[in-house]
Amino acid sequence: MSPQPRGTNRRTVLAAGAAATAAAGAAAAPAAAAEPAAGPAQADRPPATAQRPGRELRALLAEVDPDRIEADVRRLAAFGTRHTLSTQDDPDRGIGAARDWIHRRLRAHAAASGGRMTVDMQSYVQEPANRIPVPTRITNVLATLRGDTDPDRVYVVSGHYDSRASDVMDATSDAPGADDDASGVAVAMELARVLATRRTAATIVLAAVAGEEQGLYGAAHMAEQFRVRGTRVQGMFTNDIVGSSTADDGTRDPRTVRLFAEGVPTAETPGEANTRRSVGGENDSPARQLARFVRDVADNDATGMDVRVVYRRDRYLRGGDHIPFLERRFPAARFTEPAEDYAHQHQDVRVEDGKQYGDLPEFCDFGYIARVARVNLATVWTLAQAPGTPTGVGIVTSALTNDTELVWDRGTEPDLAGYEVVRRETTAAEWTHVEPVGDVTRHTVRASKDNLFFGVRAVNRAGHRSPVAFPLPRS
Ligand SMILES: [Zn+2]
Repeated sequence: MSPQPRGTNRRTVLAAGAAATAAAGAAAAPAAAAEPAAGPAQADRPPATAQRPGRELRALLAEVDPDRIEADVRRLAAFGTRHTLSTQDDPDRGIGAARDWIHRRLRAHAAASGGRMTVDMQSYVQEPANRIPVPTRITNVLATLRGDTDPDRVYVVSGHYDSRASDVMDATSDAPGADDDASGVAVAMELARVLATRRTAATIVLAAVAGEEQGLYGAAHMAEQFRVRGTRVQGMFTNDIVGSSTADDGTRDPRTVRLFAEGVPTAETPGEANTRRSVGGENDSPARQLARFVRDVADNDATGMDVRVVYRRDRYLRGGDHIPFLERRFPAARFTEPAEDYAHQHQDVRVEDGKQYGDLPEFCDFGYIARVARVNLATVWTLAQAPGTPTGVGIVTSALTNDTELVWDRGTEPDLAGYEVVRRETTAAEWTHVEPVGDVTRHTVRASKDNLFFGVRAVNRAGHRSPVAFPLPRS
């Protein structure tokens, strides 16, 4: 945090900025050594907007168990194949057996929730389409922890339980899919287990989805169900290929997870695009604010991880289950391991020239997956305890002035304490200043909106902060 006195005049803004940068640099001295670091790419850590984990969150994070994650990954890999087109009625092999096992495990976890966590199969028949030659039942398994005070505000963590071999249409060969993506499913399941005993203000959905390798079918169905019901999904994270910290050259980066977050929104309207071209904002999509929030709450000693935010929607030639959410205007991003080994994903299990190919559990690092689970847990737990992202946030442009007047709607959370205005230079990647402004819905900063970017976040009585909302021009 770098609280600023109220009424800062416009001449002091830049000087204060230098002080805040120096303070952040001092706090992060070991990470900011002159020698370039192998893993962490974001220089100023922690950010000015960082939220330190409290005792309750630390206790929750300590419950994440790498041994349980290992057991889940190994069990999922043992179904032989979990290809979306594989058998659905064999009790031992194929995607149907995996589906039923996930359902049973999540129900067992939910039993500890006193009825607040429910487990559902969300199912539909996909008619023939790209990579789906015959009508195929696609089933997502969802564990929903209903929020106490704001249940219609939802955060989603997912992994995909379908797998593939070298040929994406091969539904019978072994496709253990340990890293891609039993690892992500194990993250969602472990979160369900530890969250089942907790109460949150908003709702958390832990999801194992199918059809990803065939074309993101399961995630698209889930996102569409949220859309048609008018659910306020304020954050979604897919964990896809989070199983290993070892690159194909053998180097290890066990303390870094990548988070891919788009800039220009996938679903922006022509009007929104015009505004962006006029006054900027290509680095301020809801997905980017969500990614900054992850750095704020999960890049710290409690998770043991550096969150390396990557400013693109996904890797080259790849896509993931966050995309159907982005297409429906839900903020979403993708977690992935730091450097992939392509010999151990999308490959038939075989030995060639003495080299083992295939996505086998022996190439996973279960302690690493547990740390990725802690990053997800710190993120969704804080999101679900904090107020929702502010709405109706505008920057008043009715007249030419050298001030910045911000307006927003007051949230309805019973424990809402007030708001903070954040700002940064237009060339900075992360927010550099935080100004508490109290329980108001309008605030004027004595600095020019032409020279800086601003945002607004909500704070509750427990001190939890929401993600930042980026203002739209308002006349
Ligand atoms: Zn995948």
